[in-house]
Amino acid sequence: MLKYLFYSKDYCHMCLENKTDTFICNDCKERLKFVSASRDLKEGLCLYPLFYNNFIKDKIKKFKYESSTYLAKTFVEILYEFILAEDIDFDYISYISMYKKDEYDRGYNQSKLLADLLALKFDKKLVNLADKIKSTKHQNKLDKEERKTNLQGAYRVRLGLDLENKTILIVDDLVTTGSTFSSIGKLVKEEYNCDLIFLALASSRLGEEDEE
Ligand SMILES: [Zn+2]
Repeated sequence: MLKYLFYSKDYCHMCLENKTDTFICNDCKERLKFVSASRDLKEGLCLYPLFYNNFIKDKIKKFKYESSTYLAKTFVEILYEFILAEDIDFDYISYISMYKKDEYDRGYNQSKLLADLLALKFDKKLVNLADKIKSTKHQNKLDKEERKTNLQGAYRVRLGLDLENKTILIVDDLVTTGSTFSSIGKLVKEEYNCDLIFLALASSRLGEEDEE
């Protein structure tokens, strides 16, 4: 967490070299592939500003697995601009919870870091919609069928939340098939009369044409 808290705010958090006051320099911005795309999941619209090219792939890897939590600030800057540009309206912000032991081992939940900073920027309440009650394998190592069974019984929706007629923005770093968003979305929609919008920083898919 030290890097997250104390990394100099005057430098680009992606290359750590160029000076900038927005956490991302123009050189790094040019290496991102902005697609500003969306696709329909059954439980709500899923939006993402970036295509998952090698540049962002490397940064997300550092963010998730190498404790480079300072990258949250750059990612949130990108998400913030995207939310404004797309005029996304919402009441609460949420995230994908982690299995307790996994979160303990990593030291943080990357999805929650993003949601937390976005909630601050938009002055919205952060809510946890569902707890992860089972450890699962990495979704990206599994095929489509395995992804579904892998997530079965993995989450438990939180009861007694005041979500009636609210719109909740659920934030994560990466979306591939959308099965994680969907499995949480399904549980939440069964329990509550609310709308969900899924927001990921990047997607490995460009559009509908390469859906499975
Ligand atoms: Zn840079």
